[in-house]
Amino acid sequence: MNRKTIVVALGGNAIIEEGTEGTVAEQFANTRKSMDAIVGMIREGHRVVLSHGNGPQAGVHLIRNEAASSQVPPATLNVIVADTQGSMGYMIAQCLRNALHLAGVEKDVVTVVTQVEVDPKDPQMLNPSKYVGPFYKAEQVDKLRERGWVIKEDPGRGYRRVVASPSPIDVVEKGTIKDLIDDGKVVIAVGGGGVPVERLPDGTLAGVDAVIDKDRASALLANLIGADELVILTGVDRVAVNYKKPGEQWFDRLTVAECQKFQAEGQFPKGSMGPKIEAACDFVKRGGEKVIITDLEHATAAVDGKAGTIITA
Ligand code: ADP
Ligand code: MG
Repeated sequence: MNRKTIVVALGGNAIIEEGTEGTVAEQFANTRKSMDAIVGMIREGHRVVLSHGNGPQAGVHLIRNEAASSQVPPATLNVIVADTQGSMGYMIAQCLRNALHLAGVEKDVVTVVTQVEVDPKDPQMLNPSKYVGPFYKAEQVDKLRERGWVIKEDPGRGYRRVVASPSPIDVVEKGTIKDLIDDGKVVIAVGGGGVPVERLPDGTLAGVDAVIDKDRASALLANLIGADELVILTGVDRVAVNYKKPGEQWFDRLTVAECQKFQAEGQFPKGSMGPKIEAACDFVKRGGEKVIITDLEHATAAVDGKAGTIITA
């Protein structure tokens, strides 16, 4: 059997199902459903590292900050990412351990609260563009800016805080993550893209109020631990051009060159498929063999090369 090390990035819909409120019970129920695909890979003998997004969950924390502001000090964005890594990591770890147990596989599933280094001089740090948290009214904007926040209009929707989404440059706990998978553990890491940190001149680390794209952090982690494959699980079973437009065309295989050509044509939007394609290309360009983009339903077949869009050099 061809045992591979696979980094699997779980999309938002793996934890909060669209159209649900996202109560804790719903999140557990939906996470439980999402674990079948992962159990399949582990039963086939693959070593799996899981990562996950945290957009809606971080959004909830930001609303809590506002609602509780007269009683408790707000949590910073980097602490919020760490919070969601812990809470979501707990849910995923418990659901996956239970699913493995019911499948007759006894395995430790462990969550690593992961710090990801970013460059304070990243162009995004100077010109942030990622919308986070609740919408505000025009008359609130001045007060919010007094907090040192950058507030921009999300056209047609209201005013929102924008933060930087810098490129991940290193994963602080990469060695520990590698040790854990070599030891046979299933690892959950770089949740929400990782807690962004910068390295100060004296070599110490400090949190940065930014967010890192989870697909890009997952790709970097995959390279750093020498993973064979990066599997990005999202809301579609394959990548298309002219998505939801006349001339729509779905791909079983794409090369990095084709991805870059389609990217330049604007086929992959910035807020959705764009970062996944970028992450895929980065992984392959840094020496990774293969990236698969598919949905939960096709994940097991995709790892066998029978579904999804496969991206290679
Ligand atoms: P996730 O939450 O899983 O990280 P997003 O929902 O942000 O991912 O982005 C994935 C979504 O992007 C798909 O479910 C699909 O609706 C959309 N999408 C946009 N462009 C394309 C494309 N060219 N091919 C396939 N899906 C696309
Ligand atoms: Mg999404």
